[in-house]
Amino acid sequence: MSPRLGVVGWPVDHSRSPAMFAAALAARGLQDWSYQRLPLPPELFEQTVRALADSGFLGVNVTIPHKRAALELADSAGEAARAIGAANTLTFGPDGTIAAENTDAPGLIAALERVIEMPARPLSAPTSALVLGAGGSARAAVWALLDAGVAQVSVWNRTPERAHALASEMGARAVREPVAAELLVNCTSVGLQRSATDVEALNQLGMSADHVGRYAYVIDLVYRDGPTPLLAAARAHGLATVDGLEVLVEQGARSFELWTGQPAPLAQMRRAAGIEPG
Ligand code: NAP
Repeated sequence: MSPRLGVVGWPVDHSRSPAMFAAALAARGLQDWSYQRLPLPPELFEQTVRALADSGFLGVNVTIPHKRAALELADSAGEAARAIGAANTLTFGPDGTIAAENTDAPGLIAALERVIEMPARPLSAPTSALVLGAGGSARAAVWALLDAGVAQVSVWNRTPERAHALASEMGARAVREPVAAELLVNCTSVGLQRSATDVEALNQLGMSADHVGRYAYVIDLVYRDGPTPLLAAARAHGLATVDGLEVLVEQGARSFELWTGQPAPLAQMRRAAGIEPG
C-alpha cells in the first residue's frame, strides 16, 4: 500500500498543509504518496488516530484542538514535545507504536534564522524576546526561544494569570505590559479576524503602531491573505519580519523530512502555502 499522510484537526478546512505537502511530495517524486485533510472532533480523536495506522497511514500532522491529546496517546515523544506538553506530528511504526514530535518549536527558530541570515540584512541573533500570548503556540515559542539560547524571554498575555503560570513553568518572566526586547513574537490569535481595525488589533496586544518600532524583529504566528496589523506596523518601521506562513512551512518541512527521509523542497512548499516570491 502506498504511504498515506494527513492533517487532523477540528476544524481543518482552512489548513494549507494539504496543498503544501502535495507540492512537496510531487517535487521529490513521491507521486504514489498521498496527504489528506482529516476533520476529526475531539470525542473521536483517539480511536480514529489509532485506526489510521491500520489503514496505511505513515503519519499525521495534528492541529487545533488536538495537540495535547496527540502527545497523551503516543507511546514515545521527542524532547520538545515532552517539554511543551503538545505534539503536532505523529508517526506510526510498523509495530503499531505511535511516536510524537513537536516541529512547531524548531520551525519557529528556523523561520527566524532565515531572516537573520538574509545577506541583505545582516542581523545578529536576538538575546531578548517578548512573547505575546499564553496558549499552545506561546508554550512552544517560549520553550523554543529558551532552548535556542535567548537569554531573556518575557511573556505578556491578556489574562495575566496564564502568563504567570506559563512563565514560571518554563523559566521565563511574566510582564504586566509589553516590554521592549529585540524580538517580538505574537502567539495570540489577534489579527486573524478582519473585523477589528489595525489600531484596534494592536490595542488588543497592549500596543500602538509607534510601540512596535521598539523591536528589531517581529514574528507573527497568525497568517492570512496579506500582512497582519502587527506585521504591517513592523514593516512601516523597516523591521525584519517573519510571517506566520513561513513558520507553517518550516514546521511542515520538519514533518516531511521525518516521514520521507528526504530534504524538504522548501521553494515548492513556500509557493504552495501562498508565500509571495521575493
Ligand atoms: P490558543 O491556545 O487558543 O491561545 C490563544 C491566545 O490568544 C491566548 O493567549 C489568548 O489570551 C489570546 N487572545 C485571543 N483573543 C485575544 C484578544 N482579543 N486579545 C488579546 N489576546 C487574545 O491558540 P494557539 O494555538 O496558541 O494559536 C494562536 C494563534 O497562532 C492562532 O491564530 C493560530 O492559528 C496561530 N498559529 C500559527 C502557527 C503557524 O504555523 N504559523 C502555529 C500555531 C498557531 P487569553 O489567555 O487571555 O484568552
